[in-house]
Amino acid sequence: MGSHLCESLLAADYDVICADDLSTGRIENIKHLLDLPQFTFRRHDIRSPLNVKVDAIFNFASPASPPAYQADPIGTLFTNIVGARNLLELARRRDATIIQASTSEVYGDPLVSPQREDYLGNVNTTGPRACYDEGKRCAETQFFDFHRLYGLKIKVARIFNTYGPRMRPDDGRVVSNFIVQALRNAPITIYGSGLQTRSFCHVDDLVGGFMKLFHSSPDITGPINLGNPAELTVIDLAHRIVRLANSKSPIVHMLAAVDDPKQRRPDIGRAAAQLGWRPNIDIDNGLLATIDHFDQVLRHAAANN
Ligand code: UDP
Repeated sequence: MGSHLCESLLAADYDVICADDLSTGRIENIKHLLDLPQFTFRRHDIRSPLNVKVDAIFNFASPASPPAYQADPIGTLFTNIVGARNLLELARRRDATIIQASTSEVYGDPLVSPQREDYLGNVNTTGPRACYDEGKRCAETQFFDFHRLYGLKIKVARIFNTYGPRMRPDDGRVVSNFIVQALRNAPITIYGSGLQTRSFCHVDDLVGGFMKLFHSSPDITGPINLGNPAELTVIDLAHRIVRLANSKSPIVHMLAAVDDPKQRRPDIGRAAAQLGWRPNIDIDNGLLATIDHFDQVLRHAAANN
């Protein structure tokens, strides 16, 4: 998401400083930007304070794939909590607007569907997803406290499942896993029954939502859901990807993931009313383009081995 956001900001004529510790992000995703005079890259872990001259900050820093964030739970928790604190202090010093990439995970395993922003969530504080969920929840808390205490200009978006080019083939999330498996004609791994649902938004739509949020009036603080309300079961997603990739992959069921949310679908009424935003990219078209992208990435990797 970060590389796509950098491109959109550069296209809108902003100077961009991109900071990433490259723990899950990859330098290849921004290599076409590195020589641009308006673009600077800083390898930085936001658990340490960052001192740069800025008018606006987008905080997207955190592992976001469940296997990645669960591999370093304490690191994930503190990247979200201490990282948010450091960037909020920076925004305060610079009088900058600060935008938080929050998550549908703040709703946990939701008991209502679709999820509206006023749903308070159902998070297991002691489970293996809590490092991410509670880290993001605490980040939101800090954003709203800085806003109330210091009048800081904040905007909080809750991102629902997003997919698209530049995900790592080994990212571990469902869309990249299924596409890579389908392209290799390897078994498609469904965790549990596959009847759990998700709603998938193409990254271009999502970044469009962030740009609208960024340019919205200061009284629009969020939280505001950004996602595609078209809800699918994981089984349906598997069948679509096999069909769209012309794959011979069989579908296999594995153990269910612990605390896996059973349903997820955004209510985007607030984004529509306050930002005039809704996603446009239909799931089959978005998946086809993403399959093409992964096909090229895998062919390129095979040719270089
Ligand atoms: N999932 C799956 N097979 C995979 C990867 C994920 O069945 O190879 C399921 C996972 O259990 C969850 C859904 O797909 O129900 C979405 O998982 P993902 O890790 O993409 O994101 P989440 O929404 O859980 O953060």
